[in-house]
Amino acid sequence: MLLKLFQAGEPVLRQKARELTVQEIQSPGLRQLIRMMHETLREAPGVGLAAPQIGESIQLAIIEDLPEYGRNLTEEQAAERERQAVPFHVIINPVLTPVGNPDVEFFEGCLSLTGFTALVPRYQRVHVECLDEEGSPRSIDASGWYARILQHEIDHLNGGLYIDRMHSRTFMPVDMYSRRWRDVSLRDLKAELGLL
Ligand code: ZN
Repeated sequence: MLLKLFQAGEPVLRQKARELTVQEIQSPGLRQLIRMMHETLREAPGVGLAAPQIGESIQLAIIEDLPEYGRNLTEEQAAERERQAVPFHVIINPVLTPVGNPDVEFFEGCLSLTGFTALVPRYQRVHVECLDEEGSPRSIDASGWYARILQHEIDHLNGGLYIDRMHSRTFMPVDMYSRRWRDVSLRDLKAELGLL
């Protein structure tokens, strides 16, 4: 079953989600929710989905960056984004610690801001402590695009959206980005949009 994707403006997207207990994590209801979130993420398609985006104010997000999602990137674009496939996994009650360079800038989108994109600075590396879908502790060290996905999803669990962090002058419809800016250097884009 596909779940409704809540759009910006819904209060649930602006609330800090509550933590889950191990008992809740191991319940059939939560397993079912994760299955439906996975189906919804595949259908969208997207690389991450946080529970508040489907109206559940709980500290749970799923991540999956399939190899085919990177296919429309050139080898150079994939390399500069440090983008590699990430297998499906679940993060619960995550605590994120930023590591390294805080201003890696790329365009990103969100299933709760359908049709838009913007340039968002993110940390190049992050460390995340969380629980997995069995309720077991997991420790994640991520860099590049995977680190970006983790920051984006964990922001959702704390009531954040990328529009809180973006360079607002770069906010635009996805089709405008594809038509006008996809192959323009960031330096030229920033100069033309008045960011430099
Ligand atoms: Zn999002």
